[in-house]
Amino acid sequence: MFKKILIANRGEIANRIIQTCKKLNISSVAVFSEADKDSLHVRNADESFFIGPSVATESYLSLEKIVEVCLKSGAEAIHPGYGFLSENYSFVNQIEREGLTFIGPPSESIRIMGDKIESKIFAEDSGINTIPGSKEIINNFEDAKKIAKEVGFPVMVKASAGGGGKGMRIAKSDADIEDAFNSSINEAKSSFGDDRIFIEKYIEKPRHIEIQILADTYGNVIHLGERECSIQRRNQKIIEESPSSFVDEYLRNEMGEQAKKLSEEVGYTSAGTVEFIVDQNKDFYFLEMNTRLQVEHPVTELVTNLDLVEEMIRIASGEELRIKQEDIQFNGWAIEARIYAEDPERNFMPSTGRLKVYIPPKVPSGDVEGIRNDTGVQEGDEISIYYDPMISKLCTYGVDREEAIVKMQKALNNYVIKGIQNNVNFLSSIIRNKRFVSGDINTSFIDEVYPEGFSSKIDNNQDAFLCSLVAVYLYVKEQSRLIKKRSSNIFYEKSLVTKVGSYIYELRTYDRLENLIIEYEDSVISLESKWCPGDKLIDISIDNDLYSFKVEKIILGYLIEGLGFSDKIYIFTKQAFDLSKHMIKKEKKLDEKIIKCPMPGLVVSVNISEGQKIEMGDKLFTVEAMKMENIIKSDISGKIKKIYCAEGDSLASDQIMIEFE
Ligand code: ADP
Ligand code: ADP
Ligand code: MG
Repeated sequence: MFKKILIANRGEIANRIIQTCKKLNISSVAVFSEADKDSLHVRNADESFFIGPSVATESYLSLEKIVEVCLKSGAEAIHPGYGFLSENYSFVNQIEREGLTFIGPPSESIRIMGDKIESKIFAEDSGINTIPGSKEIINNFEDAKKIAKEVGFPVMVKASAGGGGKGMRIAKSDADIEDAFNSSINEAKSSFGDDRIFIEKYIEKPRHIEIQILADTYGNVIHLGERECSIQRRNQKIIEESPSSFVDEYLRNEMGEQAKKLSEEVGYTSAGTVEFIVDQNKDFYFLEMNTRLQVEHPVTELVTNLDLVEEMIRIASGEELRIKQEDIQFNGWAIEARIYAEDPERNFMPSTGRLKVYIPPKVPSGDVEGIRNDTGVQEGDEISIYYDPMISKLCTYGVDREEAIVKMQKALNNYVIKGIQNNVNFLSSIIRNKRFVSGDINTSFIDEVYPEGFSSKIDNNQDAFLCSLVAVYLYVKEQSRLIKKRSSNIFYEKSLVTKVGSYIYELRTYDRLENLIIEYEDSVISLESKWCPGDKLIDISIDNDLYSFKVEKIILGYLIEGLGFSDKIYIFTKQAFDLSKHMIKKEKKLDEKIIKCPMPGLVVSVNISEGQKIEMGDKLFTVEAMKMENIIKSDISGKIKKIYCAEGDSLASDQIMIEFE
C-alpha cells in the first residue's frame, strides 16, 4: 500500500480523497493555486504545495508542475479526482514514464475512451449498443446535411472532443442543421481546441443511466449497478440517484454486462463509468465512458456501502478486488443534488462572490443516518471565476426512494447560503415536483417542467397560505416576546392580514405557550415549533405535518424560503390593512435604464446595435465566464441609447453594458 498520495485537484473532490487517505493511514499531499491558498483541501491535507496562479492552465492543469511536486514530496501515486487532468492522456503517460503510479486507468484506455467518435467505434466493435449515426468526422456543412438526412431528424451534432455538456446541438429539421453545425464547431474549437464533429440520432425524452464499474489489474471486472442522472440543465447533471426507478433486474444485468464487456475490451482498470441513454422502450445505447471517478459517485457508495476512492487506491497499489459480482448488495435509495453557485432564474448563470453565510444542513455522524454533504468550501470563502461553480454535493439516503426524497427536501430547506446566487430553491422545487416524485423523468425534464424558466416566487394559493401561516407564527412569537421583555402594555393584534404577491388572507390568532391556533374562514389550524426569535431556520408542525423553512425578518414581514420558493410575506394588523387601502399608491419608479454585467467575464458576441428596439427577454450578449457561455437577456423593454462594450472586452461584475433611452 502507498505511504503518500498526491491529489491533483481542488474543492470537494480533493477533500473527499483526503478523507479516504486518512482512513487508510496514507499521508496526503495537496496542491493549490493562488486563489486556493486558504481553502479547505489545503487545511485538511498533511502537506501542501503552491503550484501557481489562479488560472487553471497555469496551476491545476499544468502537468509539469504537478509531476514536479509529486517527485519533490516523495508521493508515490497521484489521484486526479475528476475534471482537470483526470482524463488527460499525456499526463498519465508522463506519470507512467516517471515511474509514479496513476490512480486511475492505463493511459491507453483514456486515449481510446477520451474521444467520442473513437470510443463509439470501439464500443460498436466490442458488441455494445451504440446510437445510430455517422462514424466519421464531418468536414463540411453539405456533408452534415446529407448525413443528417440519412440518420433522420432529429439529430444531435456533437464535438468528438466534447465534455461537460459542451459542443452539442440538436437539429430538429433541415433548417436547423446549419446553425447546429456552426455552433457546435465554434464551441468545440473554443472549449477544446478541436473542432471535429459528428452526427448521431437525437434520442427523444431519454433517460441518462450509467453503470459504475470497478476493474483490477488481475482481470476481475464488476459493476456496482446504475445511477440515473436524467435531471440535467445544459446537458449537465444536477440531480442523480441510485438505483433508478426505471431499471429492473433484467435491464440492470444487461447494462451491467455491456459495461463490463467494454471495460474488458479496453483493458480498463480502476473505477470507471459507462454512460448510456435509455429510450422509452428501455432500449439502451452507449453514450461515452468516463475514465475517472465520477462527480456523482457518492450515491453508489451509499447504496453499496463501498468506498470507491479506497477501491481505486487499492487497485492502483496492485491489490486484487476483494469483492465479487455476487457479493454486491444494493440497499436502500440515495439521491444527490449538486449545489451550484448559479442563478436558475437567469438561465443558470454562474454567480461569483463571497459566501457570507454558509450553513449546510446538519450531517449526522456517519452516512447511515441519511445525510452526506461533500463540500470544498467554508463560510467566508470566495467563489471565484476560475473554477467550476459547484459548492457541494448534498446526498440523502433512505430505505426507499420516498424516504430519500423526504430527507432531501428537509435538508435543502435547511441549507443556508447567503452572499451568492445558488440553486437550492430550484433543486427543492424539482424534488417536490409531482413528476419527479413519481419517477416520471427524462433528460428534458427541466425544459418540460419549467418552460418559462424557474421562478422562486410563490405562484399558488396553497403555498401562499402555508407561508402565511408560518409568517404569522413568527410574527406572533416575536410580538409576545416583546411584550414579555418590556412588560409593557403593547398587545399584538389578534386579527392579522397577510399578503403574498397577490394572495391576501385574513387570519385570527390565539397564542398559547407551546402552540398557536390560527383561524381562517371555517378552518382551525394548529402550529407548533421550538423556534426562537433570531433563529434562521424553523422546524414547524402545521396540523401535525412537519415543515422546515429558512426565515428572515424584513420590513413589515418575513422572507420565507423552502419547498422551492423564496418570497416575502407581509403582515398587517387588520386595522392597518383596512387603512392602507386609502393610502395614495406610490408611483412605481422605472427601473434604472441600464444593463450591467452580472459577473466578470469575456464578451463573446454582441447581438444588438445602438438605436435598436428591444423587448424584455431579448438576447443581448454572450458572455463567457467560468468556462461557460452565458446569454445575457434584457430585463427591460426599450430603445438602446448606447452600448458600452464590444466583442472581446473583459468586463468586471456590474460594469455597465448598455443604456436605454
Ligand atoms: P460528470 O458526468 O462526472 O458530471 P461531466 O462530463 O459533467 O462529468 O464533467 C466532469 C466534471 O469535471 C464536472 O463535474 C465539472 O465540474 C468538471 N469540469 C468540467 N470542466 C472542467 C474544467 N475545465 N476544469 C475543471 N473541472 C472541470
Ligand atoms: P459529455 O461528455 O458532455 O458528458 P455526453 O455524450 O455524455 O457528453 O452527453 C451529455 C448529455 O447530453 C446526455 O446525458 C444526454 O442528456 C444528452 N445527449 C447526448 N447525446 C444525446 C443523444 N444522441 N440523444 C439525446 N440526448 C443526448
Ligand atoms: Mg457524459
